[in-house]
Amino acid sequence: MTPRDDLSARMARPQRHRLLQGFPAVPTMVPAAPDDEEDAGLDTRDRHWGNENVTRGLDGALVDGRFAVARTGLAKAPLELRLMGDEPEDQAWLERAREDQAKERARWQRIVARGDRSAPALFDVDGTRELLVGVLPHTQCVPRRPSCGFCTFPYDQADPLRRRGMVRGALRDLRALTREGPLAGRQVHAIYLGGGTANLAPPEEIGWVVQALGEHLRIADAELTLEGTPHLFEGLFWSHLKALAKLPVGQRRISMGLQTFDEGLLRLMGRERFGDAALVKKLAKRCRALGLACSGDLLFNLPGQSLSQMERDVDTAVAAGLDQICLYHLVLYPGLGTPWSQDPALVAAVPNNEAACEHWLRLRERLLSAGYTQSTLTNFERADVGEKRFRYEVASFSVERTDGLGVGPLSLSTFVNPAQGRGLKLLRRKDLGFPPWSGGDLMYQYDAQGLRLLFLTRGLAKTRVERAVYRRLFGTELKDDLGAALPAVLHAGLVTVDDEALALTPTGMFYADAVVSLFAQTARAVDGSAGGGVHTRDLLRELPHSGDYTGMG
Ligand code: SF4
Repeated sequence: MTPRDDLSARMARPQRHRLLQGFPAVPTMVPAAPDDEEDAGLDTRDRHWGNENVTRGLDGALVDGRFAVARTGLAKAPLELRLMGDEPEDQAWLERAREDQAKERARWQRIVARGDRSAPALFDVDGTRELLVGVLPHTQCVPRRPSCGFCTFPYDQADPLRRRGMVRGALRDLRALTREGPLAGRQVHAIYLGGGTANLAPPEEIGWVVQALGEHLRIADAELTLEGTPHLFEGLFWSHLKALAKLPVGQRRISMGLQTFDEGLLRLMGRERFGDAALVKKLAKRCRALGLACSGDLLFNLPGQSLSQMERDVDTAVAAGLDQICLYHLVLYPGLGTPWSQDPALVAAVPNNEAACEHWLRLRERLLSAGYTQSTLTNFERADVGEKRFRYEVASFSVERTDGLGVGPLSLSTFVNPAQGRGLKLLRRKDLGFPPWSGGDLMYQYDAQGLRLLFLTRGLAKTRVERAVYRRLFGTELKDDLGAALPAVLHAGLVTVDDEALALTPTGMFYADAVVSLFAQTARAVDGSAGGGVHTRDLLRELPHSGDYTGMG
């Protein structure tokens, strides 16, 4: 297939629009620590898939804690077991205890015989790079139907006791990751508390998270965003907003999932009680009074949604005085795994890519003429936003200078060292029952070529990548490395190239997914069979084992 044909095929597929993950996608990631299944000599206890005693650091170092424990145990003389009494059952107890002791010793011997699986670091974590921290404190939400219909976030029914247990699990991870090692004492540029309905956690629990962040990291100058739904920001006499205004960080903001102001579509989502236009306006005013930035996410190209409905949503968001408005094209196709994707009538009611792109162009123009500037593929900020600009998002797409630590269920961390041509992406599973980056979590190890793709796939989410930065990082020319893919995307009018940058055109912004996947394909044959083959939808099905944490902390 020629690159032009390949591009056309990619443009006909659903467009993700957000490029949030960058390179690589989840199915190409592999278990973060070696799997014990291959060790036929170990008994069931040793073969747990979580392999909780082997953990990986953010620099890729592997620590085989079980080997060290087993070796220390074997170095000690076995405890001499003695009888407490002289009844026949005492004798039977002694025999059983000696058998158990011998089995345990044999288990340790097998573990030691298998060898130490520890491995040195893959690269040095560069402490001079900017650091972002994203915390997903829990996975709970409160839609009226099973999820909002389009939702691909980890989502569970609201349950205060379980939620508190999950927040404590995330806190335990956060402390373990920052207490010592390469992150201890690091300055944080921006923090995002999200993952859907983060503000379902009361201000007290959000306060715990921020306190834990401040224990081992420097957050006094950081931007902090709390994500959630409008009605929960208004709840309990605005307690979330009042508490947020007092948190010991540099800049504070809220980000609200609005999706649409249309009542019919909100009913279809089960979001009738999540907040209307009047509430959003009231919240924006309240945020201004408290010095908080206020942002809202809109979805467009919803099933059956007309262009005039979409335009009305944008106008309503602008009239509310939001500092940032994020526009997300709805991704919906059979097999996606969301409730709406299982309804053929709804799937049939979304526009085709050509019409969907036309809507994007119209809405984008509308926001620009209303005085907003575009900072990323999806984020628009009021031109006079000043200090309230959204730091986290732009930084998260700046691989050349920023590392990101993710904490909580299904959080992603990416640490790279461009000078060494190495890096690591880590995905925490939904179940936090094992230590961070143990066997149940996933990882991807970047080589120099992988870093190029990461830079491109993340960087284009800012709508342009600077050629000089690429040259400085990789020592080669971006145009040369893209080979035949570049003429194809230029011919399709999706990008422009000048001496300074490769930039997406407005149409290219809609088809950014097709552009970056073609670039990735050209630079490295992405083999679907490589990696662990685990899909995000598989991970979403996992149950959060909050019981593991209840009562801790
Ligand atoms: S409110 Fe957000 S997280 Fe919750 S189900 Fe809806 S889209 Fe998903």
